Amino acid sequence: MSITPLMPVYPRCGFRPVRGEHCHLIGEDGRRYLDFAAGIAVNILGHSHEGLIGAIQRQAETLMHVSNLYGSPQGEHLAQRLVDLTFADTVFFTNSGAEAVECAIKTARAYHSHAGNDHKFELITFNNAFHGRTMATISASSQEKMHKGFLPLLPGFKYVPFDDLEAVKAAIGPNTAGFLVEPVQGEGGIRPASQEFMVGLRALADEHDLLLVLDEVQCGVARSGTFYAYEQYGIEPDVVATAKGLGGGFPFGACLATEKAARGMVIGAHGSTYGGNPLAIAAGEAVLDAVANEEFLADVRAKSERLRSRLEQFIGNYPDLFELVRGMGLMLGVKMKIEPRGFVAHLRDNHQLLTVSAGDNTLRLVPPLVIDDAHIDEFFEKLSAGAASFQPEAAA
Ligand SMILES: *Cc1c(COP(=O)(O)O)cnc(C)c1O
Repeated sequence: MSITPLMPVYPRCGFRPVRGEHCHLIGEDGRRYLDFAAGIAVNILGHSHEGLIGAIQRQAETLMHVSNLYGSPQGEHLAQRLVDLTFADTVFFTNSGAEAVECAIKTARAYHSHAGNDHKFELITFNNAFHGRTMATISASSQEKMHKGFLPLLPGFKYVPFDDLEAVKAAIGPNTAGFLVEPVQGEGGIRPASQEFMVGLRALADEHDLLLVLDEVQCGVARSGTFYAYEQYGIEPDVVATAKGLGGGFPFGACLATEKAARGMVIGAHGSTYGGNPLAIAAGEAVLDAVANEEFLADVRAKSERLRSRLEQFIGNYPDLFELVRGMGLMLGVKMKIEPRGFVAHLRDNHQLLTVSAGDNTLRLVPPLVIDDAHIDEFFEKLSAGAASFQPEAAA
């Protein structure tokens, strides 16, 4: 037998973390790595946050799981908190980002079906988007590398260029249900949508009775410097999928919706065995305790500005390697002039700095939101050393 016990769908590297300490990971070999990947934008409180650990420990001892057939004082409390903090009137809890997007897609279809418009099932989505790895969420993405081997796709998605309002207008037709968009494309290369684009989508949705569905799985939960990124565009969505940071490392997501948008999500329309069980809710509560306040958010924005301005200065030293810096909050991307994976591996293996690559040749920086100036200094020491010692030919 040659297949590995872990299904070989990931190109796993040699680094094998066994312990986390705040913003560092410790490998099997005992070495310390600065973690600017954070489980891909998940560990927003770092790896040893006492509030999060304590909440999970206490809840595990009290009540870990019960069915969603029973009333949930825990879930009601967290849902009310999310409603109070956002545009939303109602919340469905999930275990992952893809499930949150699935619920958002079903919510959009049910919205129109509920009004007798079953033909309005198509979501306009955007080139290079990433929405997850289930059948519906790969169907929602234009990226053919995720489709290969899994055809036929689910019908009902039309891809148009990101940030192109004219293309959206041209794509609207009798079957359109709404738009599904990441305000900041993550996997696709840390590309924020423009203000005009997001405001334009909102206006088009209002004009044609379509739903504006946001995928904030990566950019949400304080990552962008506001609780959700849509706040920075001065618009309110109809539906938002959120996950990653929401559990701080515990698998947790949610689909947030207005009362109007959720009109089709009636009894029996959707469900999840684990979604929003008391253990997950406890993790979510601890995360919100830490991040859902103006002081924390202002601190994220301030650290973002420091990191970003130093990055912009730094990349000038290596014009052959780096092109530009983009992003929002502590979701920053450095567009490189080369395919970034070799550089990511070099930083990791030779300088104990963890980053992630993203589409459009982007080096992705999504550190824990609790980094301090010493971590930023350490980051630049490692990045400078890494850039100075990097030999692109050797990496390729
Ligand atoms: C990670 C991600 C997802 C999928 O989340 P999973 O928890 O892996 O299912 C969906 N959308 C965006 C924008 C993401 O970054």
